[in-house]
Amino acid sequence: MTGLALSNVEVVYDKVFLAIKGVSLEVGEGEMVALLGSNGAGKSTTLKAISGLLGPERGEITRGEIRFGDTDLRPLGAPARVDRGLVHVLEGRRVFGHLTPDENLVAAYRGGKAERSFEELRDEVYRYFPRLKERARSKAGYLSGGEQQMLAIGRALVTEPKLIMLDEPSLGLAPVLVAEIFAIIREINQKHGLTVLLVEQNAAATLEIVNRAYLIENGQIVMSGEAETLKRNPDVQEFYLGSG
Ligand code: ATP
Repeated sequence: MTGLALSNVEVVYDKVFLAIKGVSLEVGEGEMVALLGSNGAGKSTTLKAISGLLGPERGEITRGEIRFGDTDLRPLGAPARVDRGLVHVLEGRRVFGHLTPDENLVAAYRGGKAERSFEELRDEVYRYFPRLKERARSKAGYLSGGEQQMLAIGRALVTEPKLIMLDEPSLGLAPVLVAEIFAIIREINQKHGLTVLLVEQNAAATLEIVNRAYLIENGQIVMSGEAETLKRNPDVQEFYLGSG
């Protein structure tokens, strides 16, 4: 397998709090997979373990393996993982509010390490998110929540990723915007073959666009399968889709 594979990963915060308890999951190259769960289930912790944001001061990976293709990610810091094509869009649209969209994209560009020119990558981002181009002269802090989420995704795209991890992109957005952003993520996955790991609480919208999903509760994967199969599962319908 050439994608991402976690096997039995355990994260302990503050030396005592076991936040994820032996999580195993796979995302094949070109796949779009979701990790679904409620508040505090361990979704963000799982993404941080993959992207290398967990350090000794915030949490520790005490067990398990994390591989991306042939590479063992555990010894690598977060920047080295970005260089290998893994990018993490954090929860809460962290864009630079005092910079314009263009300047935000420049700040994310990998300069000498990049294969493509900045202009080419920026134009691609604006093709996906034409609203951002319209707002090119505004400071990002004045953009709407949806536009800031688009910019956060755009910043990830200019790092030329192979796999993008998105932490709750739908959070706080109106349903119509969620649909718009999810459709664009799907398009990027399908047209450009970008592998996607999507963390969400919004199971209904997410199961419409992903190939497969994992359900996490209290730090453990409790169910996984094809999106179509999960949608028909009575427990998923009752507890995740609110329609049991
Ligand atoms: P949310 O959607 O609220 O972010 P989540 O599924 O992403 O939920 P995590 O953020 O991964 O959940 O949190 C998992 C557990 O670990 C929770 O009980 C949370 O309180 C705890 N936790 C998260 N970050 C830390 C930290 N830095 N220090 C201590 N405990 C933490």
